[in-house]
Amino acid sequence: MEKVPLLSVENLNVEFSTPDGVVHAVNNVSFAVESGETLGIVGESGSGKSVTASSILKLNSGVTAKTQGAILFNGRDVLGADDKTIRSIRGSEIAMIFQDPLSALNPYYTIGNQIIEAYRVHHRDVKKSAARKIALEMLHRVGIPNPEARIDEYPHQFSGGMRQRIVIATALINSPKLLIADEPTTALDVTVQAQILDLMKDIQKENGMAIILITHDLGVVAETCDDVAVMYGGRIVEKATVNELFLTPTHPYSFGLLGAVRSLDNSARGELQTIAGSPPSLLHLPSGCSFLPRCGYAQQNLAQCSSVVPELEKVSPTESFSACHLRTEALISLKMKELA
Ligand code: SF4
Repeated sequence: MEKVPLLSVENLNVEFSTPDGVVHAVNNVSFAVESGETLGIVGESGSGKSVTASSILKLNSGVTAKTQGAILFNGRDVLGADDKTIRSIRGSEIAMIFQDPLSALNPYYTIGNQIIEAYRVHHRDVKKSAARKIALEMLHRVGIPNPEARIDEYPHQFSGGMRQRIVIATALINSPKLLIADEPTTALDVTVQAQILDLMKDIQKENGMAIILITHDLGVVAETCDDVAVMYGGRIVEKATVNELFLTPTHPYSFGLLGAVRSLDNSARGELQTIAGSPPSLLHLPSGCSFLPRCGYAQQNLAQCSSVVPELEKVSPTESFSACHLRTEALISLKMKELA
């Protein structure tokens, strides 16, 4: 019998109406995540990765947003769920953490109060004293030294790395099945970044939760993820295991990203470097491939590249999926020779 994924996103489309027109933020995005697995969603700013992640918690449901497609979590229809159901899923079964821990923590409440409150929202019958014990255990688990002394302190009394640990403690207090982490280490220095990623991996090993990691940092992807979806212009342009992406990339955009990473020296972080040109405006997506103005391979197939949007399809002989009209072994081997 085929295994049912914990989360499946199918043909997700998200549009926002703005005074300048309709922003096509996410276009026909599909992926699945299993329990215990980490999926990286990687791309430049404005590629649609954060809007995709927010859709999983139905956070884009404002009056200007139009969301279509299907999101199934643990067998339940998320997009069709009512507000009460979504509120019960948020923070208990699916938790989300963001880049800036300060914006996630209320400066006027002690960290203990915030973690206890996050727990009791979903466990109303648990007494505050019992919830405090659970919060202390979690603070200990995420590496806050001497939590008994520090649980009654305020967010500003902690360093950036410690604050992100507190945010993770708050996110994990209800043992979610899925953690969505949107650039969780971008604001932190390299050493603290590695500690936070290790912490997330350790907790995942213990409780088997799935993680969706949104990042612009291929170094983080290489360290942390099992599978990766590369987004460009609101679409997934390549989907692969991490090994496949790094060893046999199949999309010209991935070639550019990886070429940039490979050119970095050992002391540098693997952040995406500038590829000549700019990402497309999501207000005015072209009729063909949105990577065309930046693609060094389009000349071989200009008529098709400029008029037909390439679909994400399996690329032989790899296990990857790529959205490029030139999905040929010749293209891959040509690029691999350049990268070698
Ligand atoms: Fe380049 Fe054409 Fe492939 Fe787009 S479809 S990435 S323009 S070769």
